[in-house]
Amino acid sequence: MEAKPVYEIYAVKYAGPLYGSVALAFWNTDWEKKMERNYYIWVVKGNGETLVVDCGVAPALAKEREIPGYTSPVDALARIGLDASRVKKVIITHIHFDHVSGIELYPAATFYVQEKEFNFWIKDPIAKKPPFLRTSDAVGNGYLARLEGTERLVLVKGDKGIVPGIELLLAPGHTPGLQVVAVNTVKGTAILGSDCAHLFRNYEEEIPSCFIVDMVAWMKTYDKVKSKVSSLDLLFPGHDTKMLTDYPKVAEDITRLV
Ligand SMILES: [Zn+2]
Repeated sequence: MEAKPVYEIYAVKYAGPLYGSVALAFWNTDWEKKMERNYYIWVVKGNGETLVVDCGVAPALAKEREIPGYTSPVDALARIGLDASRVKKVIITHIHFDHVSGIELYPAATFYVQEKEFNFWIKDPIAKKPPFLRTSDAVGNGYLARLEGTERLVLVKGDKGIVPGIELLLAPGHTPGLQVVAVNTVKGTAILGSDCAHLFRNYEEEIPSCFIVDMVAWMKTYDKVKSKVSSLDLLFPGHDTKMLTDYPKVAEDITRLV
């Protein structure tokens, strides 16, 4: 059997810190306590491939939502020599504004989204109800919707390898069709979980964030990702400030996770 290629994973902070109640990130706990969180995209590099995981927020929306500490993902990626306009593959973990609104910043990319996630946010009238509208961006979603039927959009059905050593895993709970990214690394299988959990602590204590559309599905997802990842320290959350502070820095606001 041929050895699977290994990849490096980088966390690219493009906004934050933001302050909010602990309860938002850690389900129904410590409403009165505040904590910091950051906004990230990730880069997976190796075997001649460079994949970006999530799009970040578009400059116009960052201004409208007054997101603190914002840098355009284009400028952030440039710090490690990446030109967003030439990125060929972007994995969208889920269709929340902080993960998809910057889609226009990658004009040469093919986007990988779970079909279930796409169908909910783009086609289901329930996605237009207030709680869902709050976490979505009409501009980014419109761009994504217009790509349907073109080569630039791959609608993924469940678990699927996209290049050797990188597999997308359907992981619902935070949203109807969130996907995580399982990556072969020198330390074994790492998983970029995005907002499957906001913090490392969510995985450690088996308690999700407050942003959950299906708690039962999340519990099953938790067991699934835990069984796939080589060790719990290789299971990365979506918004933990530790991804910036506890790993080797390679450029301003960019660290190497593995
Ligand atoms: Zn998020």
